[in-house]
Amino acid sequence: MTEMLKNLIGGEWKTGGNASKDVNPSNTNDVVNEYAQGTVADLNAAVAAAKAAFPAWSRTTGQERYEILKKAADEVLARREELGKLLSREEGKTLPEGIGEATRAGQILAFFAGECVRLGGEMIPSIRPGVGVEVTREAVGVVGLITPWNFPIAIPAWKIAPALAYGNCVVIKPADLTPACAWALVDILNRAGLPKGVLNLVMGRGSTVGQALLEHKDVSAISFTGSVATGRKVAAACVASTPMKKVQLEMGGKNPLVVLDDADLATAVDCAVNGAYFSTGQRCTASSRLIVQAGIHDRFVAATIDKLKALVVDDALKQGTHIGPVVDKSQLDTDLEYIKIAQSEGAKLAWGGELLNRQTPGFYLQPALFTETTNAMRISREEVFGPVANVIRVKDYDEALAVANDTEFGLSAGICTSSLKHATHFKRNSEAGMVMVNLPTAGVDYHVPFGGRKGSSYGPREQGTYAREFYTTVKTAYSFAK
Ligand code: NAD
Repeated sequence: MTEMLKNLIGGEWKTGGNASKDVNPSNTNDVVNEYAQGTVADLNAAVAAAKAAFPAWSRTTGQERYEILKKAADEVLARREELGKLLSREEGKTLPEGIGEATRAGQILAFFAGECVRLGGEMIPSIRPGVGVEVTREAVGVVGLITPWNFPIAIPAWKIAPALAYGNCVVIKPADLTPACAWALVDILNRAGLPKGVLNLVMGRGSTVGQALLEHKDVSAISFTGSVATGRKVAAACVASTPMKKVQLEMGGKNPLVVLDDADLATAVDCAVNGAYFSTGQRCTASSRLIVQAGIHDRFVAATIDKLKALVVDDALKQGTHIGPVVDKSQLDTDLEYIKIAQSEGAKLAWGGELLNRQTPGFYLQPALFTETTNAMRISREEVFGPVANVIRVKDYDEALAVANDTEFGLSAGICTSSLKHATHFKRNSEAGMVMVNLPTAGVDYHVPFGGRKGSSYGPREQGTYAREFYTTVKTAYSFAK
């Protein structure tokens, strides 16, 4: 018997409509949890509870909010191993990756605990005599958070923590594939002392509870992370609702890693393998396009294949596993479909791409590397979101930069080079929100802005103090005293 996870509405744990199963992708016989699918009525009750809690919560002192977030941060960090194990079992990241993500969630909560007491304003001299101008930030209201399955504890943390720190009330709808991590985080925050209704959790389908959250008139802002297709719907619904909602979207990527002839080969291969394949390639910042200069191309491909051959693809919880399973059957089918598409377009499958059998039934895929690809192929243009990457050969730095920027996405971009000139030029001229030099395109700090450009992101950045921009609204107050 697994535990049935319930929704948190107005401070009470409630069963919703149908029960759903949360299945371990490393072993589909293992049901991690059953969880209560929320209904639209549950969602409406959650928004009503958040709205009722907002006047008092938004007027709490920074110290009161600090105490709660700090207590939750301490519990997440103390339980990082257990939470990391839950994450790996639910999502399929390896155990070290799962523990790393749980740790990051704790660090994010601790950072935003500090933010509760750091938020200040500005006093600006007026252009009129005797008049003072104050610019302050206030909470936005009830904030709806919609999260994807691939960072099931860190993304809920990096949305919930700033929302609460700046005095908002929250309704979160986590991905239906991975609700247990979000549930655990909400449970910790709830027990840390949040007043009833300040944080509400409604699990369930995007098309029902997610859509209802977007359309609810009492929700003032939506922060969404997920695919571009869903992101477009989210933005359209936020603009169509009355009143219009503030909206922030973090979406997909087709992130380039440029490898120049003067790169340190070992560093370049490490960056490529880590960036493209770790976390089973299921990262929005994954380096799915490896753009390699002709002089190092063959050595880079050979060394990358050698490294891939040594990677262990197996149960996420097994010691020694480097790459866990794909998250579910549907994502696995997508990965296999793209492998076929690339081959049909003339790309050469240089390594991997086949299904693997392991001790337990799971979605195991050998990481795939394509060579002889062009940037015009679908494998170079569309996000696969799996352990699949392709090498594009270029003649020089200028062509590498042009190919790197020739994409509708713009989340992260990397370059491996020992040339300060090229590294500096790339940092300035890459059309991505995050640029890495001699580092993988994936793997970021929690205290600095995160986000992209072009089709990858819409609205203000997440994380660090930049999160203020979305989770607060600015007030300009003028006063005159004779
Ligand atoms: P998805 O778009 O399928 O789902 C994301 C969330 O939206 C889920 O909670 C889902 O239930 C919900 N949803 C679906 N339809 C909805 C609707 N009509 N109304 C409201 N909500 C709805 O994405 P996914 O498959 O969970 O995640 C993978 C995607 O997320 C990839 O494209 C990846 O690049 C992206 N991602 C981006 C970032 C980033 O920060 N840029 C981080 C992680 C993942």
